[in-house]
Amino acid sequence: KGRVEFRDVIFQYMSEKVTLKGISFSVDPGQTIALVGPSGAGKSTIIRLLFRFYDIQSGQILIDGQDIKTVTQFSLRSHIGVVPQDTVLFNEDIQYNIRYGNPLQDDAAVVEAARHADIHERILTFPQRYQTKVGERGLKVSGGEKQRVAIARTILKSPEIILLDEATSSLDTQTERNIQNSLLDVCQGRTTIIVAHRLSTIIHADSILVLKEGSIVERGRHSDLLALG
Ligand code: ADP
Ligand code: ADP
Repeated sequence: KGRVEFRDVIFQYMSEKVTLKGISFSVDPGQTIALVGPSGAGKSTIIRLLFRFYDIQSGQILIDGQDIKTVTQFSLRSHIGVVPQDTVLFNEDIQYNIRYGNPLQDDAAVVEAARHADIHERILTFPQRYQTKVGERGLKVSGGEKQRVAIARTILKSPEIILLDEATSSLDTQTERNIQNSLLDVCQGRTTIIVAHRLSTIIHADSILVLKEGSIVERGRHSDLLALG
């Protein structure tokens, strides 16, 4: 479970410019694909489309062979976890934020379902493991802490597919290392699509797509792309 496929996807925001000019690729279950390329190439847009934040004009996006247009938002959102570049938190303590998730992103029912599981104990194990500052309020925590909250929320959902927009902001190296380790942890065994900014992420991906102005200009493994020069 967790195969993702884009078939000749064309997408345009409400502007004259076409943002994605016929994108095709697939990711097998459990594999990690890194999206790279200059700013404005369309990387984040690919992630938003998979989440059905916008509908495409032409082509198909399939999850396990099923067109996402035919899937309910509830079902889609219970299969996909998003770790955004910049997480928005409630100005409540971190446990509250982990527990209640993001009202924009997580269907209330998904959050509700998660709440009934063995959530209580699991949340209690988070703070140490992810070094989250319990008791600190949302507006006070650093970018790194926020990403950890987003990671913790994603773990609670236990989705088959993870969409990840890697932070570009410079965190101190120790924080960055901790976050990357947490992310590797979460992504293990799940289909992962990463908008990658760090070389180490790119090297570890099973495959890389290089985007430029809405098209895929190269694709392959890290070693293949190096060979191309
Ligand atoms: P990347 O993630 O590769 O930096 P994006 O997917 O964010 O690129 O953006 C691709 C193009 O779409 C850019 O030209 C950007 O200006 C445009 N774009 C992104 N978001 C919107 C939006 N909400 N409305 C209109 N245009 C957008
Ligand atoms: P968070 O609030 O957890 O920081 P964001 O608001 O940054 O999350 O959004 C995370 C991802 O979900 C982004 O890729 C964004 O495009 C998408 N997203 C944001 N708002 C919505 C929404 N109302 N419905 C669906 N997807 C959304």
